[in-house]
Amino acid sequence: AEQGQDDLLAGLNPQQLEAVTYRGPALLIVAGAGSGKTSVLTRRIASLLRAREAWPSQILAITFTNKAAGEMRERVEQLVGEAARGMWISTFHSACVRILRREAEQFGFTKSFTIYDSGDSRALIKRLVKEHEADAYGLTPASVQGRISKLKNELSDAEAYARQANMSDPAERIFVELFADYQRQLQKANAFDFDDLIGQTVYLFRAFPEVANTYRRRFRHILVDEYQDTNHAQYALIHELTRPASGDAPDPYASNGMMIFEPETTPELAGASLTVVGDSDQSIYAFRGADIRNISEFERDFPGARVVLLEQNYRSTQNILSAANAVIGNNFDRKDKKLWSDKGDGDKIIGFTGYSQHDEAQFVADEIESLRRAGYPYSEMAVFYRTNSQSRALEEIFIRSAVPYKIMGGTKFYERAEIKDALAYLVAVANPADEMAVRRILNKPRRGIGDVSETAIARFAEEHGITFRQALSVPGELGFGPKIQAAIAQLDAVLAEATEIMLPASGELPPPSSVADGLVVLLSKSGYLDALRASRDPQDEARVENLDEFVAVARDFARNNPEGTIVDFLTEVALVSDADDLDDESGSVSLMTMHTAKGLEYDAVFVTGVEEDLIPHRISAGEPGGPQEERRLFYVGITRARKRLHLSLAMTRAQFGEVTVAMPSRFLQEIPAGLIDWRQSPGDVNSRGGMQSRALNARRAGGFGGSASSGDRFAVKPLPGRDQLKPLSTAMDKFPNRVTAKMRDNGDLELAPGDRIRHTDFGDGRVDAVTGEGAKRIAHVRFDSAGQKKLLIKVAPIEKI
Ligand code: ATP
Ligand code: MG
Repeated sequence: AEQGQDDLLAGLNPQQLEAVTYRGPALLIVAGAGSGKTSVLTRRIASLLRAREAWPSQILAITFTNKAAGEMRERVEQLVGEAARGMWISTFHSACVRILRREAEQFGFTKSFTIYDSGDSRALIKRLVKEHEADAYGLTPASVQGRISKLKNELSDAEAYARQANMSDPAERIFVELFADYQRQLQKANAFDFDDLIGQTVYLFRAFPEVANTYRRRFRHILVDEYQDTNHAQYALIHELTRPASGDAPDPYASNGMMIFEPETTPELAGASLTVVGDSDQSIYAFRGADIRNISEFERDFPGARVVLLEQNYRSTQNILSAANAVIGNNFDRKDKKLWSDKGDGDKIIGFTGYSQHDEAQFVADEIESLRRAGYPYSEMAVFYRTNSQSRALEEIFIRSAVPYKIMGGTKFYERAEIKDALAYLVAVANPADEMAVRRILNKPRRGIGDVSETAIARFAEEHGITFRQALSVPGELGFGPKIQAAIAQLDAVLAEATEIMLPASGELPPPSSVADGLVVLLSKSGYLDALRASRDPQDEARVENLDEFVAVARDFARNNPEGTIVDFLTEVALVSDADDLDDESGSVSLMTMHTAKGLEYDAVFVTGVEEDLIPHRISAGEPGGPQEERRLFYVGITRARKRLHLSLAMTRAQFGEVTVAMPSRFLQEIPAGLIDWRQSPGDVNSRGGMQSRALNARRAGGFGGSASSGDRFAVKPLPGRDQLKPLSTAMDKFPNRVTAKMRDNGDLELAPGDRIRHTDFGDGRVDAVTGEGAKRIAHVRFDSAGQKKLLIKVAPIEKI
């Protein structure tokens, strides 16, 4: 029986109700923080499913993090139950990986492609910069990587760039060569970098209309959360997907890219319906190419779009909201939004100035304990900072004070050298074309295969038109002495053994444990673990533990994905992002950067390091729009709090072996003084006479500390020492490793129960059943003599008879 919609719509305000129930080609929901944008999107999906207006498979919802995707899926399932299965709810990157895995063969890649994280691309670019002697032209790997990424986000490539660059400038010429070479190397390695995942999917859709049409027909409802942080490539992807499948209906974008809305097109033929939600005040990824115009020009791009504004905030108390409104009001160029709450004023914001970051951290720890005693669970508290390096002082004090915590963005784990090595071993099995991975493990552990031998192997491979990995299979031909020959043969044997476990040549579906089992074989039989165990370096002990943990991750994966392959595992690892904590410990305080905090909410929030040069960050000063983006970031931070907000800073901050004097952030000034209750203001610290410094005197002169006087009291020259601040970590830096698969391809071999098949090893048999879909279709076969087997149809050496 069809369920009603009453429970779905209960409690919604009239604007939210409209956002959930409006039906039409395009809907834009713009609203400030905490006004229910994400909730509305979730209910809208549930409502479509409940009313049978869409099959789950017709829905594509895009969230900013995997964690947000998981939560949205869970929530929809709570609302509509089983009916929710088959929806695509994922990040842009995950959705594109899924599409590319299916379609990569259309344009010269295989399904087993690797995903290069930022570190992998950097390594490749570093090599190319060296080869092209580009440093002589002032091109550093970091600058080249940044420029390539930016161009890719704008859907430009080396050729297009060359057309408008000043090619008489040698530095430009070298850059273009580097860019083109980088792309060739990726293709050769059967790899996509992070930007390519989006950009190449767009390319795929444009170059192969039939492929695009498949997805256009499939997805009838596309919904995007955090639309203000989409970049041009993501915008183009959405556009490609929302067009009518060509041939089905006149293309409304046909002339000059502007959509001509045709109300008479019948719904079955029209393009997908698009719903986007966002808040320009929370656009914080401009440095990564996010383009706020995607939201501000939505109505131009989709004429006839309905626009819904939400104004009631359901998250925070009025004091917190008033502070947020006051801060963001200082940005120019924005539409003023009036957010209000009916939760009452609530507690005042608590301010604190520590002598040092340790003092500040101690305040945070003490406050957390007192909130805890007042009934707030640890899991409802979060501590934010601007840069990752700020977490260290907090961690030290938390450990000493026994405050349980977890760091969001725990993907640091995947950046550890030993984990990257283990991943490279897996990639060498799954995507042997990935030369970088194979080279990485060539001499790990030390096998006496040095640079000279490595180069010789590479040359041999090139001369014989085989891959680096294939060269390892003919150690006798490489011209090495017996020792190196034996070492190579041993590595080759280990890789082969692991391949047989994870991707058996028989095509038989490997057991769920195969990824972990293969990993154990790789790490132990290669001698990698033994080498660490034999070492006296205490660090190596920790490395062994980390590898144990990694094997445990693989075992967990098997439990959660009984039919998951090594490719699935590597994909999952590659797409772990900032907000995805490794262990979901609910009984701990969450620590994260303000970027990671987007979309989340907690009863109690601590925004730490509210200092000039941190927030706004020093590097933002030179960027156009930088300080405004920093203000939005701060706005994101404070609007995460439901009931308790703490703003803290330190007078001095020790970083990278240097102590610098910190100044209160200008954003503190922008909050009406009456909203903050200073537990210890810079003024107090002053009067206690604890510190003598130029900055303190400057501050004294300005009388900072809750007073409402104005003036440029913070206009003190930037202090030395901050130069050494690490560059901002971007979410991209943390998208870890790489991914893969090896598949021999049976194409779309159609099998049905009752069919007779022949397998090269198992002989003849009868198909009992076929389960799964796409690349994961599995045939359950009863062989005449070999018994019952489950076979991955795509890769099994079988034919119909
Ligand atoms: P952000 O801009 O931070 O992403 P948002 O606009 O997506 O915020 P949500 O996270 O969807 O806001 O909602 C904020 C909080 O308000 C959530 O706890 C949500 O459950 C609650 N909420 C939203 N709408 C209502 C409502 N009509 N009644 C009660 N609570 C609501
Ligand atoms: Mg949201």
